Amino acid sequence: MHSIHDSQKLKEFLEEIWEKSFRYGQIENAIYKNFITDFDEIQTIPQALRDKLKENFQYTSLTVDHKATSKNDQTTKLLFKTEDDLLIEAVIMRHKTGRNTLCISCQAGCPMACTFCATGKLWLQKNLSLWEILDQVMYAAKLLNDEWGRLRNIVFMGMGEPMLNYDAMKLAIEAMCAQKKFDLSNRRVTVSTCGIVPWINKFADDFPQNGLAVSLHAPNDEIRKSIMPVDHTYPLDTLMSSLDRYTEKNNKRIFYEYIMINGVNDHIKLAYELWELLKWRLAHVNFIPYNAWEGTGGTYSATPKFIIEKFQKILLEYWIVSTIRATMWDDIDAACGQLARKKKDQEKKDEK
Ligand code: SAH
Repeated sequence: MHSIHDSQKLKEFLEEIWEKSFRYGQIENAIYKNFITDFDEIQTIPQALRDKLKENFQYTSLTVDHKATSKNDQTTKLLFKTEDDLLIEAVIMRHKTGRNTLCISCQAGCPMACTFCATGKLWLQKNLSLWEILDQVMYAAKLLNDEWGRLRNIVFMGMGEPMLNYDAMKLAIEAMCAQKKFDLSNRRVTVSTCGIVPWINKFADDFPQNGLAVSLHAPNDEIRKSIMPVDHTYPLDTLMSSLDRYTEKNNKRIFYEYIMINGVNDHIKLAYELWELLKWRLAHVNFIPYNAWEGTGGTYSATPKFIIEKFQKILLEYWIVSTIRATMWDDIDAACGQLARKKKDQEKKDEK
């Protein structure tokens, strides 16, 4: 079975069976613009072609294993199962302004082993295929369309490190921004990385218009190394020069994510260090209150809000803009990897 997102295969297939070339556009339109999920319902093409499509193409490779919507209806967490039985997560965040955002996974598990992260504890299970990435997008786009909403933003901030699945990520972004497909603006597709320098440089060249977010989490190497092993390979000075190159080239503000973990990276002196690090840079800091999960054995907990606000104030004195990520998903375990991890633990318990 081929994925319906595989345009090249679909075009070749239509040629092989001597279909007229305009059929491709009709199918594309049915899938991406009319959100038809069942080939039998594509009224614009003859039944014989629908049958052949069914035999050779599939609408999605993912099944929904679990779906949870937060009490305030703003966030929907999706746990998908791949055909090889791996769990991956995506999160839909609905905003009052209608700027709906989808957070997607690019890997099952993750090899980066950040100490605070549930996905890191799963290790790398596999790189997702281009189709598995697009199937997450298609599912969310359709769900939002059914609610009379629209998918406006995509962030690669789910499970995995996007720079380590670069080719699939690149093709996925191209499909997301293709007018005849998901039709998103490049500015609204953002990639988040823990800081893999050579790929950030490539990203800067390939995607001048897309957003870049960096999981910084500490303003010095000592603390950063203790929570993010990647800092041993790409320490802060190397990372920051690569980010400077990105800004010079693209003149775009970089989003710095900073998880606030109680007693680990939230000492007030670090706010000043953070300011030192970012003061001449085009930066937006996004503070993320740590979302505690049982796998860290209770070692990590969230920084109290008033301390995060102090950090914000200090940065603002020096004109560095920041936001605090709303924890609108607390009741559904929506931080990276938590749901997949929980499910896996549950399965292990059940086996015993
Ligand atoms: N590998 C990429 C993208 C995936 S992680 C990256 O590192 O940026 C997406 C974000 O969620 C990262 O900033 C990550 O550090 C953060 N995160 C992971 N676990 C978290 C938790 N328990 N609470 C809050 N944020 C978390």
